[in-house]
This record gives sequence, C-alpha cells and structure tokens, in this order.
Amino acid sequence: MQIITARRLIIGKGKTVLANGAMCMENGQIRAVGDVKEIRQRFPQAPVCDYGDATILPGLIDMHIHVGDTQSRPDVEQGGDQLKLLYAASELSAALRRGVTAVRDVASEPGVCTALRQAAGMGFLRIPRIFTSGVALCISGGHGWPLRSVAQVNSPWKLREQVRSNIRDGADWIKAMGDSNLDAPEYTQEEFDAIVQECHRQGKKAAVHASFASTIDMCIRAGFDTIEHGIFMTPEQAAVMAEKGIAWVPTAMVCTRVARELEQMMEERGLKAESLTPDNVEVFLDVQKANSAADLRGLNTQTLRRVLFYRTVRAAYAERIQRFQRMGLTLLAGTDMVIGGTAPVPVEQEILCLAEYGLTAVEAIETATGNAARVLGLEGQIGTLEPGAAADVLVVGGDAAYDAAALQNTKEVFQGGCPLLNQAANK
Ligand SMILES: [Zn+2]
Repeated sequence: MQIITARRLIIGKGKTVLANGAMCMENGQIRAVGDVKEIRQRFPQAPVCDYGDATILPGLIDMHIHVGDTQSRPDVEQGGDQLKLLYAASELSAALRRGVTAVRDVASEPGVCTALRQAAGMGFLRIPRIFTSGVALCISGGHGWPLRSVAQVNSPWKLREQVRSNIRDGADWIKAMGDSNLDAPEYTQEEFDAIVQECHRQGKKAAVHASFASTIDMCIRAGFDTIEHGIFMTPEQAAVMAEKGIAWVPTAMVCTRVARELEQMMEERGLKAESLTPDNVEVFLDVQKANSAADLRGLNTQTLRRVLFYRTVRAAYAERIQRFQRMGLTLLAGTDMVIGGTAPVPVEQEILCLAEYGLTAVEAIETATGNAARVLGLEGQIGTLEPGAAADVLVVGGDAAYDAAALQNTKEVFQGGCPLLNQAANK
C-alpha cells in the first residue's frame, strides 16, 4: 500500500482537480482518491510520498500511433524484421517512461503488436498497454498501400474476411483508410458498411482515416466509432457525431508541425509565404526571383501547393477544435508521428497542441485520459484516477491543470502501482 500526494491531482474525467489531492494504491489498483488529510487518516499505515509542487494525473493514452513504423528511420527499415521489432520495443518502453501507459495502434505490420503484448505479458518487456488494429484496410492503390502495415482489400465480402482474419490474429479494433490527400472517398458506401457491420457483429470497434467532408459523411453513415484526422469536418457532421457518440481524433500536432516547418522553410529562404495564394502558385517563384535575392533552390510548384494545403489544414484546426469540443464532440489525443523528429509517442505534445487550439489544459488532458478510456470501452479501468482503476499514474512537475506544457516535466510514472523512475520524493 502506498499513498502519493501533490499540490494538485487531476482525475481525468470532467473538470475535477483536487487541491492537495492524494491517492492510495494497493495491488496495482487505485484504492482511494481524495484530500491528503482524509486519505492519510483512512490509511494510517501506508507510507506517504509527497511530490510537492507537482501534478498527479492518469497515465496518458495515445489513440493514434503506428507501432514499429519506420518511415522516418530508413536505417531501421533496412535492418529487417527482427531489428524493427526491437526498435518498436525500445520506442514503446521510452514512451512508457515519459508517462504513456496505453496506446491504440491503428496500422502495424502483421504480428508486431501481438508479439510485443505477449512479451510484456510474460514480463520480458515493460511497455504501455497496446490496443491494436493490426494491418489497416485500403482499396487497391489506396492510402498507404505500399506499406506492409496496410492490406489492399476490395469488395464487401473480402473486407469481411479480412476483418475476421485481423480479429483472429488479435486485433481489438479495425482500421480502414477512407481517403488520402484528395477530396475523394476511396471505398464505396457498401464497402464501408461491410467493414463496420462485421466489426460490430464481433464486438469490436472501427476507426477510419477520413480527412474530407464527403468521406466523413459516408463514414458517419456506416457507423465508424472514431474518425481519424477529420480535418475538414463540418459543424453539421460534428453535431451528428456528438449525438451518435462517434469520437474525433484530430492528430493536430503532426499536421501543425508540418505546416510550421513549411512556413519556416519559406521564411528562411526570404520568401513571403503570406503572398502565396492558390491563384499565383504558377508564377510565384518567377515573381520572387525578379523582386528579391530570395533563395529558390529546390522549390517548385509542388512544394508551394504543400505550403498552401498545410496552411488550410492549420486554419481548419484553428476553426474547429475548440468549437466542436464545446458542441459536445468527444476529442481524443492521437500523435500519428510517422515523420519522426520527436520523442517516441509524444502525446504530451498533442495535448499541448490541442490546448493551443483553445481547449483548457484539463480538457486537453481529458482527450488522452478519460475520453480515451471511454472510447476504448474501459471506463473506470484505465484513464482516470478513481477507486478500482489500474494504478497507471503520471506525476509531473508544476501545474498541469493550468499549463499543459508541464506534462513535459515527468517526475514519476507508475504502471500498475509500480514506480518506473524511482525518483526520491519528500516523505
Ligand atoms: Zn496514422
């Protein structure tokens, strides 16, 4: 039995933040949560660890990752399957030590997640809990088709068959690719319907990559449980999703990061990005060349279109995230960091990004805690600090209830009540 306490404790569900909150953990579970005086009185025999000016909150859940993805690591990719598996294990254990206690994998190569899960179950590895979709489904030549983490499957019955195979092989979810970078749904309505029906028939949930409104419409109709990216979702769609209990995983940080990097590249080259418009893409570089000493190396109209697209994406998030959350839509934190360049599974950065787009720090944290647990069907078991839940707990320095940036200051992580960093705290 162990009591931990800090200046504040975030429950992970709703707005509740306890000042001088404490919790008692026993046998891997949370026994009680409340005011420090009350908890000490109730469990006088339990040792108390006081983290001082810190925040205690539930371990974080990343709802959109690709376990073992090596798109940003060609060196690992070339090393073969065994190396890739070790890489995945190392990334996940590093993520756990930063407070990520559960992940939902939405496309990975066959067998990767089940092997990792088995190794963790046997005690060979300490990694976050993994919920996996196994390989994702796309049409022939559809989004992500060259990857081994994506299977090209067409027609309702072939899709049902693949759903069954995935479930046989350990999938908890099914992931479909609904569109790519164009406003053009890849599957037909009949195909989307078959995926979801087969999935629900077997008691599993379905996630879909859908960025554009026409695809999102079809996916809502089919009854998918989560919409991934959903960048150009309309307010009407958000309202229907809120009503039907379909959640949104905006993956805002990764797209915002790409947008920023492109803007920065323009700036570094002395180009005025704001003067680029959809109408002047073809002549933009010529005009710049004539007018200034700007560095135009490596730039072409394709790069400029990317700049424009990601500018639109950023504006879309800025318009939607706070507004749709206020409408009652369930938002979930998902990192989708296939581009590399950050710590593994940087869900704390997605939370910060959602806060920058207008959620309060506590609301943004809820997207990676209570909301995620509810959508995973594990309400009360993970993702919240309440009696009976697993003692997967994160302690960060500072006030995370006020400033989500505090999540980057990890003090301690408990997995099933077991401290992983063993930082000495004041008694
Ligand atoms: Zn993804």
